[in-house]
Amino acid sequence: MENFYRDMRKKYDVLMVDDQPEGGKWNYDKSNRNKWKDGFRIPSHKYFKNDVVSVVSDIEKAGVKTMGQFETKTFPYPLTREQALVQLKYFCEELLIHFGDYQDAMHTDETYLFHSRLSFAMNLKLVSPQDVVTTVVNYYHKHQKEIEISQVEGFVRQIIGWREYMRGMYWARMPKLKSENSLDNKNKLPDFFWTGNTKMNCLSHAITNSLDNGYAHHIQRLMITGNYALLTQTNPDDVDAWYLGIYVDAVEWVQLPNTRGMSQFADGGKIATKPYVSSGSYIHKMSNYCDACHYNQNKKTEKDACPFNSLYWNFLDDKREFLKDNFRMKMMYSVLDKMRPENLHAMKKRAQHIIEHQDAY
Ligand SMILES: Cc1cc2nc3c(=O)[nH]c(=O)nc-3n(C[C@H](O)[C@H](O)[C@H](O)COP(=O)(O)OP(=O)(O)OC[C@H]3O[C@@H](n4cnc5c(N)ncnc54)[C@H](O)[C@@H]3O)c2cc1C
Ligand code: SF4
Repeated sequence: MENFYRDMRKKYDVLMVDDQPEGGKWNYDKSNRNKWKDGFRIPSHKYFKNDVVSVVSDIEKAGVKTMGQFETKTFPYPLTREQALVQLKYFCEELLIHFGDYQDAMHTDETYLFHSRLSFAMNLKLVSPQDVVTTVVNYYHKHQKEIEISQVEGFVRQIIGWREYMRGMYWARMPKLKSENSLDNKNKLPDFFWTGNTKMNCLSHAITNSLDNGYAHHIQRLMITGNYALLTQTNPDDVDAWYLGIYVDAVEWVQLPNTRGMSQFADGGKIATKPYVSSGSYIHKMSNYCDACHYNQNKKTEKDACPFNSLYWNFLDDKREFLKDNFRMKMMYSVLDKMRPENLHAMKKRAQHIIEHQDAY
């Protein structure tokens, strides 16, 4: 993706000075990984009050099964180009200034943080990705004294990097991509994915937000719900169906490569170079979810141990044959190899119990 992204920057002359990246660096990812702390002000988001009663009535009449809930007289996303441009302007003026800083952060009180909520408008073609990038970069150039390049580069990368890369991968890899299951995962998604009813606070929040708002930001999709589905070795068909059904911005060309490829590694590493899995420590580092959780993020096998911990090591052990030669996994496998057999055994026993009784956790 990084090479593709750099080519796109050059091809479309975005944040470039001659043939060099503006600011001297292509990527400011390292400075864009802050945890958001309660008390640091987030401007209120731009909501529209669109009446979609007649659309909902058509859906009901057609007998389409739905889930989640929303207010039919105050649908908050832009439904016209004019509204999309208002939302884009609002993002530039209020949210861009800290977009990069908190793009990976998660918090129980904040659904959107500094995210743009523009995916719906772009996927509906109310506003083009080029319009969005040009507007944001022009705004940055006029406000360079207040806005750092790391904020705008982080945003540009999401669009001309990730979004366009996913579009290309979809068309290059379909129809095969839709049936790939390289890790041979077969389990079912638990019922709590449709209710949010679980004692795991991170999942409860990410799923409830998704059901209530049709929204979760990238890290919630990748490192909470996606991470859990992969660690519990869920059939990617189930995972695809959930993501396609639940998000307001879900369209197959962007959902499928993100879900089956990037999040579930079902394509064997064509889209992502390693599986995006983590134990509870990453979630703890980037959020406040663990503070009020029934489980203890530091424990591994006790009754109140964070389920992500045993599931993580169990996953690495179960999938050793598929992953052991992956260069980016070498360090984790060397840690696993040094683990005492009785510790690994205890971890696998707990992970197995979790997988078999997911709705009890
Ligand atoms: C498992 C999984 C499933 C996803 N499914 C979808 C989907 O169905 N539709 C969808 O539009 N996005 C999807 N994404 C990407 C991303 O999560 C959303 O685009 C983003 O959360 C939308 O919120 P936002 O507009 O506030 O984004 P911001 O954080 O403000 O980012 C700006 C824009 O960058 C683009 N973007 C960022 N990351 C990606 C990415 N990985 N792929 C494509 N575009 C990206 C989006 O257009 C987004 O609007 C998925 C990600 C994962 C991990
Ligand atoms: S302790 Fe584990 S299950 Fe609970 S919120 Fe933290 S990561 Fe999630």
